[in-house]
Amino acid sequence: MKINIIGGGPAGMYFAILMKRARGAHEITIYERNGPDDTFGWGVVFSGKTLAALRQADEASHAEITRDFEAWDNVDVVHRGQKISIHGNSFSGIARLRLLKILQRRCEELGTRVNFRREVADVESVKSECDLLIGADGVNSLMRESFKQHFQPHLSSRPNKYIWYGTNQLFHGLTLTFRETLAGVFAAHSYKFDKTASTFIVECDQQTWSNAGFAGKSDEETRSYLADVFGPDLKGHPLLSNNSKWINFVLVKNGRWSSENVALLGDALHTAHFSIGSGTKLAMEDAIALKQCFDETADVSMALRRFEEVRKPVIEDYQAAAYESMVWFENARQYMRLDPLALAYSLMTRSKRIDYETLKRRDPAFIAAYESSDLKGKA
Ligand SMILES: Cc1cc2nc3c(=O)[nH]c(=O)nc-3n(C[C@H](O)[C@H](O)[C@H](O)COP(=O)(O)OP(=O)(O)OC[C@H]3O[C@@H](n4cnc5c(N)ncnc54)[C@H](O)[C@@H]3O)c2cc1C
Repeated sequence: MKINIIGGGPAGMYFAILMKRARGAHEITIYERNGPDDTFGWGVVFSGKTLAALRQADEASHAEITRDFEAWDNVDVVHRGQKISIHGNSFSGIARLRLLKILQRRCEELGTRVNFRREVADVESVKSECDLLIGADGVNSLMRESFKQHFQPHLSSRPNKYIWYGTNQLFHGLTLTFRETLAGVFAAHSYKFDKTASTFIVECDQQTWSNAGFAGKSDEETRSYLADVFGPDLKGHPLLSNNSKWINFVLVKNGRWSSENVALLGDALHTAHFSIGSGTKLAMEDAIALKQCFDETADVSMALRRFEEVRKPVIEDYQAAAYESMVWFENARQYMRLDPLALAYSLMTRSKRIDYETLKRRDPAFIAAYESSDLKGKA
């Protein structure tokens, strides 16, 4: 089969790897507008469950991904300067750049062409020359736009502002830090992803953003302002920029997932708020699910229909949980009246996927502390 893929991100490359592994005769070409080293982002988070799926799908890349990644089992919530740790949440992090390098090497090893610095401007021309066309071209997908009458995309830009930074301050665990200032409430989502660096995403509501005057601030001024807000957490380490810009999260959904021999994967197909996990994980799990559909049938349109049938309910569940989590952060201001333990409990249960019983099983000491502080509050 001749397969063209637009986009050499995690979704596109991982799908190419899995298809090529399954059948060496597939002719697969990836078109990527950037060069092999031009990337953005810091760390990528995977759950234990995702890693197990990656191992089953391709042991070679799994072995490299897990060689020197950073693993943790705690979520730390920092509020009013007090840190509450909740254990029993197994996650790991790897640098996004390192992950892309591993996937690039694996593509090369298996004989998949990645055509770097090749921007696709005319989707029809790459469609006509292949049996299967995959749009793995990210959140601003040209493929989705070009076939919008088929995919019926629904995009909604959310009100909060956020920005991705890195820092050399190491956060051992997924750390959610809240700082109340005169401008408003800032939340930071941070975790280490190698021996020297952590991702540090800052999020705030539109009012806080305007009060802080970010519209008129340069990159350097913004970083220095936020380094002050999170001074006690960053402990003197600066925030590192990687072409970092304030953005609004865009929630992407598609009414239909494929059209004839064309399908979307990863961020082009769906997004889920970063507070619940990484888009990278979803992108790679999409690739696994689609490849499994081609294990069942070589008929392209049947495989694509099957993909939608099996994967859409999984994504809808995930997006529903991510939606609750996103809305929690959009309303963070109203939770600031809670004491640190109550805030931590509210955060842990925000997506409705983790409840009291699960928390009690995972970290009985946390639940005991929460219950005794709750009783004290009521006394
Ligand atoms: C600013 C920012 C920073 C982020 N940082 C992180 C992070 O640190 N950690 C994390 O886990 N997630 C991060 N994410 C989210 C993450 O990038 C995605 O969820 C994940 O990469 C999805 O994978 P994907 O393969 O679907 O899309 P992408 O990784 O976006 O890959 C799409 C690829 O398609 C290429 N492309 C697009 N259009 C064309 C075209 N017309 N022709 C050729 N090539 C094209 C792009 O150059 C890109 O390489 C970040 C997102 C943003 C917006």
